[in-house]
Amino acid sequence: MIARLCANLPNGRRVLLGPGDDCALLAASTKAQLITIDSMVEGVHFKLEWGTPAMLGARALSINLSDIAAMGGNPTFCVVNLAIRPGLGTRFFDELYAGLAKTATVAGVSVAGGNITRATELAITIALMGEVENGPLRRDSARPGDKIYVTGTLGDAALGLRILQKKVAARGRQRDHLVKRFLEPTPQLAIGRKLARLKPTPAAIDISDGLWQDLGHLLQRSGVGGRVFSEALPLSEAYRQVYGDNCDLALSGGDDYELLFCASTAISDAQLRRRLGMDVRCIGEITREKEALLVSATGQAQPVHGHGWDQLRVT
Ligand SMILES: [Mg+2]
Repeated sequence: MIARLCANLPNGRRVLLGPGDDCALLAASTKAQLITIDSMVEGVHFKLEWGTPAMLGARALSINLSDIAAMGGNPTFCVVNLAIRPGLGTRFFDELYAGLAKTATVAGVSVAGGNITRATELAITIALMGEVENGPLRRDSARPGDKIYVTGTLGDAALGLRILQKKVAARGRQRDHLVKRFLEPTPQLAIGRKLARLKPTPAAIDISDGLWQDLGHLLQRSGVGGRVFSEALPLSEAYRQVYGDNCDLALSGGDDYELLFCASTAISDAQLRRRLGMDVRCIGEITREKEALLVSATGQAQPVHGHGWDQLRVT
């Protein structure tokens, strides 16, 4: 099975020895190296009936790519651990690996090795390396006065998840868009690299656990506070049509894999958009007071409690 799964994996020239030995052997680099790891577990993070095996393989890599994007890095090599449960055939894993290989090829990642283990639940764990040319984008460098920006729109993936769970009803194009945002997230690698070239280097984090929780991580690491204007949260057309003006999921829903970053006011919104070649939205500002406040349309500022994805929560 290992030989079969490894048959069509992308491996670049820097992989001196790929799958098949005790370790992969990689050519050295003079650049600083990034390494990250993430798991997707059946029943915790996904259900098989939600999508195809190829989507699952692609997503397992994409969520790791998002962490490299959040550092402003270039992804390079990964290794994959597959925990296999009874009841899944070789075709399932062929498709899963095809999805993984496709995403790896697009991102320029070599799948240098892996491991297969027997388990009671299906789980895919990927360790991904990357390297830094500029930056890196860190969580601990936000300064009072910085403006807070996000890429893309917020809450779509969380709404898509609720549609898959049949907690929210949606049809047609809106349903397709929102579900796709959950099943097939797009890691913001290009924008991360462009952000890393800005001076001073922005603080950044990817939004995997929900805007409020991830912003909280960044504020805590930087020793600062923040104000977010609820009116400024970027909501997609599909989100509004299915969920109205309720910004609940935009605040607390995870899985968007957009980037949140803090840039100095020395650079204007228009300059920033030009430099990044993408529409980014200013949603708030960094403050000296060590608390996170949500400012409503009427100007009322209040803390937000209990928001975000808690890995250890029992549902
Ligand atoms: Mg992250």
